[in-house]
Amino acid sequence: MLENVVEFFRNLPAKKCVECGNEIDEQHECYGSKCDNCMDPGKH
Ligand SMILES: [Zn+2]
Repeated sequence: MLENVVEFFRNLPAKKCVECGNEIDEQHECYGSKCDNCMDPGKH
């Protein structure tokens, strides 16, 4: 059962940051459509 869910997510296209266009290495769904750099300007 779980394998189907894993396959589903594997087949999803890579997300791209709406700010800079970088591909987002998705590990945290709550980040939406921006990469770490664009989400956390305070970390720079
Ligand atoms: Zn970005």
